[in-house]
Amino acid sequence: MAVPFRRTSKTKKRMRRTHLKKEVGALTTCPKCGATIRPHRACKKCGFYAGKEVISTAEKEEN
Ligand SMILES: [Zn+2]
Repeated sequence: MAVPFRRTSKTKKRMRRTHLKKEVGALTTCPKCGATIRPHRACKKCGFYAGKEVISTAEKEEN
């Protein structure tokens, strides 16, 4: 139930909000290049996924 603004002390409010935070998603390292990547996704750096190149990285290297 909603409580009037001043009825909740600063401390109580802050204690409640300690749980309101963004969580860092799961991360693994690319077995090919060692970059930090999200699991079940192709590596952005080398374009490899499950031992195969699924994204062409040739364009990136030119830049
Ligand atoms: Zn990689």
